[in-house]
Amino acid sequence: MKRRSFLKNTSLGMVGGVLLPSGAFAKFPDLGKESSSVVYRTLGNTGLKVSVVSYGVMDAKNPSLINRALELGINHYDTAHGYQRGNNEKMLGEVFQSWGKRKDVVIATKVALPRDSKTKTYNSGATKEAFLEKLDQSLKRLKTDYVDILYSHSVYNESMVNYEEVLEALAAAKKQGKARFVGLSTHSNEHKVIRSVIKNGHYDVVLTSYNFLKSNRKELKEAIKEADQAGIGIVVMKPMATNHDDYSGKRDKKYFESALKWVLSDPHVACAIPGMTAFNHLEQNFSVMKNMKVESRDIHQLAKERSNSWGHYCSFCQQCLPTCPQRVDIPEIMRSLMYHNGYGNPSLASETYAAIDGEQKLGACENCLTCAASCPNGNDIPKALQTARKIFA
Ligand code: SF4
Ligand code: SF4
Repeated sequence: MKRRSFLKNTSLGMVGGVLLPSGAFAKFPDLGKESSSVVYRTLGNTGLKVSVVSYGVMDAKNPSLINRALELGINHYDTAHGYQRGNNEKMLGEVFQSWGKRKDVVIATKVALPRDSKTKTYNSGATKEAFLEKLDQSLKRLKTDYVDILYSHSVYNESMVNYEEVLEALAAAKKQGKARFVGLSTHSNEHKVIRSVIKNGHYDVVLTSYNFLKSNRKELKEAIKEADQAGIGIVVMKPMATNHDDYSGKRDKKYFESALKWVLSDPHVACAIPGMTAFNHLEQNFSVMKNMKVESRDIHQLAKERSNSWGHYCSFCQQCLPTCPQRVDIPEIMRSLMYHNGYGNPSLASETYAAIDGEQKLGACENCLTCAASCPNGNDIPKALQTARKIFA
C-alpha cells in the first residue's frame, strides 16, 4: 500500500479527535525509509491526545514541512499571534485548510498583552478586549473558528498568572467557543509560575521551557510533577536547550536525540514542541519516538554538553538582574540574542528586544565605565551585551 493511500485509509488521521489510552502507540507499517512509530500521550485533564514529539512552528516557513509532519502523524502544532508578524499563523491556516481535517489536529496559539518589562507586570493597555481582538485576528489567519489551546504568552510571575483581564479574556474565549482549553507559556521562573498556576485553578495547560541545562531543572521537575498530578497538561518548549550553536551543524545528531529523550522520559510531560525548520530536523526528532529510553550514552552525551555549556547557555533565570545597578533587562537581551544567533530569526529577535522597556535597553549602559553585572552560570555578560549592541542598538 502506498504511503498516501495508507494514511487516507486508516484512522491515524483521527488521533486528535479519538481518545486513545494514555501512552498509546499508533504503529505505522513498514514503509521503508518512511516507516516510523508515533507515541501519543494525554494532555492533562483536557483529554487531548498529542504526539509526544509535537511541532513548534515558530520559525518554520515551508508549508511542505508541515504537510510532511501531518503525514507522519504529528498532530499538535504550536504557533503564536506574534510569530513572523502573523505570517506563521497564516501559513498554518493555509496548510490546515487544504489538508481539510481540522478536527484531527490540535492547534495552539498564544496572545501577548503589553507589559512593563521593568516591573514584569502588565500595563494599562493589557485589557480583556485587546486580548480578544488579537485572538479574533489569529483565528482569521488560522482559518478556523477555534483553537484547541489558547495561551497567555510569556508569563513571568504570580501577578501575571492572576491578572484579571487575561483570566476574563481566556474565560470569554472558552465561553464563545473560540478556545477549547486555555493555558499560559513561561520562559523564566518557570517553577514558581507553574505553582501559581496550580493555585490559580483556571488554566488547563502550561507551556514551559524545560531541558537538561536549566539551572532550576530540579525545582522545575518537581513543579511539573505537581501540575500533572493536579490535571494540568504540560507541554515543553526549548527541549534541546537551544543556544547559539543549535542546528548550525556544530553538534552531532546524537546531542539532539539525547536532549529530547531527557525531556520525554519525564512521565509528567505530555509532549515537547521542538522547532523544526528543515526536513532533517523533522526526521531526527521524529525518530526519537522509536526509542525514548535514556541510555548510558545519552547520559554521557548530556554530561559532556552540560560541562561545555558553562558560560554559553542562558536559562533566563534572572539572577543577573539585581547585579546591574540600572536593572538592564539582561535576560531579555540574552533571549533576543538567542533568537538572532541561535534560531536565525532576526525579526523575532528585534521584536523581543523592542518589547523591552526603554530604560532597560542597552542605552542604560552608556554611563557605566565597567559592567558590574554577573552571571552565576558563567555567561560573559559584558561580551554578550557588546554583541547585542552591534545587532540591536
Ligand atoms: S545571563 Fe546568567 S544570570 Fe542572567 S538570565 Fe542568563 S543565565 Fe541567568
Ligand atoms: S554596563 Fe552592565 S552594570 Fe552597567 S548598566 Fe549595563 S548591564 Fe548594568
